[in-house]
Amino acid sequence: MRLLLCALVASLCACPPPPVMVDAGVSNSGGGAAGGAVVTAGGSASAGGASGGGTVVDAGNEVDAGAPKGPFDAGVAPTGPVRGELTYWQLDLPVGVIPKTGEAGVLVGPDGTIVVIDVGNSNHDDEVRAAVRELNTQWLTPARGYPRTRAPLEIDWLILTHFHADHIGAFEALVTTDPLTVTGGVVYRGFVDVGGGTNASDFTAMCNKLRGPLTSKNVALCTAAPESVCTISTRAPATGCPGLLRGDLSRADDDAAMEPSFISLGDGARIELLGANGYAVQGRTVMAGPSFGVTDTNEENGRSVVGLVRHGAFRFLFAGDLSGSGAATEPDVESFIASSNAATLGTLGVDIAHANHHARKTSSNMNWVQAAAPLDGKARNVIAGINTAYVNSPHQETLDAWLTGNRLGDGRFVVTKRAPAAGTSSLLVDVNGRLVFQTVQGGDGYWLQSRAFPSVRR
Ligand SMILES: [Zn+2]
Repeated sequence: MRLLLCALVASLCACPPPPVMVDAGVSNSGGGAAGGAVVTAGGSASAGGASGGGTVVDAGNEVDAGAPKGPFDAGVAPTGPVRGELTYWQLDLPVGVIPKTGEAGVLVGPDGTIVVIDVGNSNHDDEVRAAVRELNTQWLTPARGYPRTRAPLEIDWLILTHFHADHIGAFEALVTTDPLTVTGGVVYRGFVDVGGGTNASDFTAMCNKLRGPLTSKNVALCTAAPESVCTISTRAPATGCPGLLRGDLSRADDDAAMEPSFISLGDGARIELLGANGYAVQGRTVMAGPSFGVTDTNEENGRSVVGLVRHGAFRFLFAGDLSGSGAATEPDVESFIASSNAATLGTLGVDIAHANHHARKTSSNMNWVQAAAPLDGKARNVIAGINTAYVNSPHQETLDAWLTGNRLGDGRFVVTKRAPAAGTSSLLVDVNGRLVFQTVQGGDGYWLQSRAFPSVRR
């Protein structure tokens, strides 16, 4: 495993980092730090994302009437992160000799902020650590235009979408042995509504870390009275999710304003938290969604943290393993989150959507799909973190949901690895390795693997 990983990293690192790309696009981006005005659908202008603590008004981004943009020019395919742009790596977490599940992503903000989203199961800490080290030592350096030298294993934020082994299993090792340094915090739903649908030993290990040595980094979104103990003896039903209304999560002094929570990624880019534990943000209110149990694995999936990543016009939506089928033990949280955040997603949805639950048919219901990828002929892409242990992923039903009716336009359904007995489509792309997307022109467009796309909001 280690040999294979080293070989992979070595092959990726064979080419020297390219020269710093001049970021010509930030000043053109409607929601970026440059403060370009975003004109709402009603015609009134509202500030873009530059205000820091303010809600980014998105109603107008469906029709981007901001500063005129030049021709979309993606340039050459990037070989690694560049200052001023957003990069995401959906990590390749192969099963190895024994079946090892796992999904992990690493998001790099325009200023080099690193946010890890899930960490794979307990056998995948090596891959996560290697990706972070590669970023900090080879790419996010002052020589390449980034603000400062970063420690090799430094990350800013970690988001743990839910309490399943394939998403949190490596957490204990990652903060214990050759540990990651988390400068911001660990964002998760809180020790609430924990039950048999959780992987108990991984939950216990994570809980003990967040209540022990990492207590100062504990960013729980939801609360219970009392909270669950670390051994899952009680459900600890949530009393609310006040952590979804704390504004900039790196600052406490703006919490009282109760604006939607976000993680700043630099240059006005951010991750907005749209929901957690079956709750959703709607304006400055947190709404409780449909009630459901804590015993089935898909009931745990339904509690996944939901995030929307913005950089200029670019949007990326992720939600862990969020469930949506509406079957008895597969609560339809997707529809609730999508409808609650309709104004945020706008009529244009997103550029790239992460297919929930490894592209299994418990998820990607039509309300979710339509909210993320409306049928307007524009090119969008869907990605998923899969390895061969997820037999049948992506399900045919999931592929059909996203691809029927030319829904993705010229886009594709791109996965880290197609599992055995998975569905088929001419639009399914099996990367068989690390899946990468990276914005260009400050979010006016993006590269996904070797193809470039303009943002749907250009
Ligand atoms: Zn999963």
